[in-house]
Amino acid sequence: MTMAFKERSSTESPLDTALSQLRRAIEQLRLSESDWNTLSTPRRILEVAVPLRRDDGRVEMYKGYRVQYSTTRGPSKGGVRFHQNIDLDETVALAMLMTWKCALANLPYGGAKGGVAVDPAKLSLAENERLTRRYTSEILPIIGPERDIPAPDVGTDERNMAWMMDTYSVNAGFSVPGVVTGKPIVLGGSLGRTSATGDGVAILVREALKLKGIDPKGATVAIQGFGKVGYWAAIALEQMGLKVVAVSDASGGATGFDSVADLKKHVQESGNLSSVPGTDSLTNTELLHLGVDVLVPAALSDAITEATAPGIKAKIVVEGANAPTTPAGDAIMNDKGLFVIPDILANCGGVIVSYFEWVQDKQNYFWSAKEVKDNLNSILMRAIAEVSDKAKGEHLTWREAANMVGVARVAQAHHLRGLYP
Ligand code: NAD
Repeated sequence: MTMAFKERSSTESPLDTALSQLRRAIEQLRLSESDWNTLSTPRRILEVAVPLRRDDGRVEMYKGYRVQYSTTRGPSKGGVRFHQNIDLDETVALAMLMTWKCALANLPYGGAKGGVAVDPAKLSLAENERLTRRYTSEILPIIGPERDIPAPDVGTDERNMAWMMDTYSVNAGFSVPGVVTGKPIVLGGSLGRTSATGDGVAILVREALKLKGIDPKGATVAIQGFGKVGYWAAIALEQMGLKVVAVSDASGGATGFDSVADLKKHVQESGNLSSVPGTDSLTNTELLHLGVDVLVPAALSDAITEATAPGIKAKIVVEGANAPTTPAGDAIMNDKGLFVIPDILANCGGVIVSYFEWVQDKQNYFWSAKEVKDNLNSILMRAIAEVSDKAKGEHLTWREAANMVGVARVAQAHHLRGLYP
């Protein structure tokens, strides 16, 4: 088989990880070399220079990306990341994962990802707004409600989505709420979107505990990452009766706190998780190695590797983050007999409720919180059943089964649409 986009390297970048998972799925599905060529190639890549006038008048240039990995099953869909370390390879990898994730959830979308290589913590609010608007303007020709629909990811939130929606709308000459999801409610956002990814992670934890015969009441969980995914997963898990024993962010971790909501209040006041009064601090690696029932990596890629996987003591790992595990880390967890719920299933609650938001925007008719919650639960339970049945029937890991369901759906769509001309 030839690799259409990138030659395989010996290091494990997120793109290597994504390609090796795709290769395995294609082999297990007995798809052809033509399928490999089609599915391993991103359809459109836009790299842009994003100029920013800083508050002091200096002009700086940042690299921005938008990768539309697939549009076979519908418009492409995926987050916008503001992080100093992003590059094109990682953005392609994350866009590929979005493709299988949307297909696994059976949403009428392809997959995309984008971002700017910038540390948003170093921007003032006004600088963040100017950067967001200019990035939107640079990628404007290829986004739109029928083409490609961005959403928040690491380092961006509903405020950025409001600026993106406004920039697009000003250029269109009328309001286009459906161009992004994860917007504020008053601009056409959906109830339940803010917590959706964390809520979905919690549903996966609940189902995994059930399958392992562990009572959620009093079960323990450690969560790496205390952002949009980690925080809301922690809140939902506490509500289910689990004990969140430790959480961490880029500054380090905290343990020995009473409740996640209390902890969040302190973080909002001091801006730092690793020095909250009345808690004990721990490193991110120590958090990964805690003797808990459930571990939720919900920060960045490559947290669980050859180096960190051997020390994991949790029975269940639910991947809130995208691509938190390298193939070597995955093999070690499988050898240890851990039950790993893969990212494309564990965190797909976010894109499911983004889909609801887009549907509501298209119809100009908005749902109740209960409708959102019930529909999220039913789509997730359907995807879980599909993966569980496949894993059981064919003696696969849940990662293999989830990838096969997603990849098979995209391959089938390619076959049915045929090749133009
Ligand atoms: P976020 O920016 O809101 O939060 C990221 C968190 O990770 C922060 O607490 C940050 O301090 C922490 N972090 C950063 N570097 C770290 C490090 N080296 N060690 C430990 N913690 C670190 O981002 P988010 O939206 O919560 O996204 C987290 C992950 O979930 C990403 O992989 C993202 O792609 C994935 N995801 C997000 C969504 C969504 O709806 N936001 C949906 C699906 C998947």
